[in-house]
Amino acid sequence: MKKELKACRMCRRITDSDTCPNCGGETTDEWHGYVFILNSEKSQIAAEMGASNGEFALRVR
Ligand SMILES: [Zn+2]
Repeated sequence: MKKELKACRMCRRITDSDTCPNCGGETTDEWHGYVFILNSEKSQIAAEMGASNGEFALRVR
């Protein structure tokens, strides 16, 4: 059985858990867009999102 991926409402981290492993926030399955950040210190997107390395959603409802 495939686990549904969710995204954190707070930091937009993508996870399959009900609680964000990054900030402990609530996650939702209503998210769009997928970003994989490899070099957060060099990524403009990461800077704008305030994100570190990992998988993130572009938009979370
Ligand atoms: Zn989070």
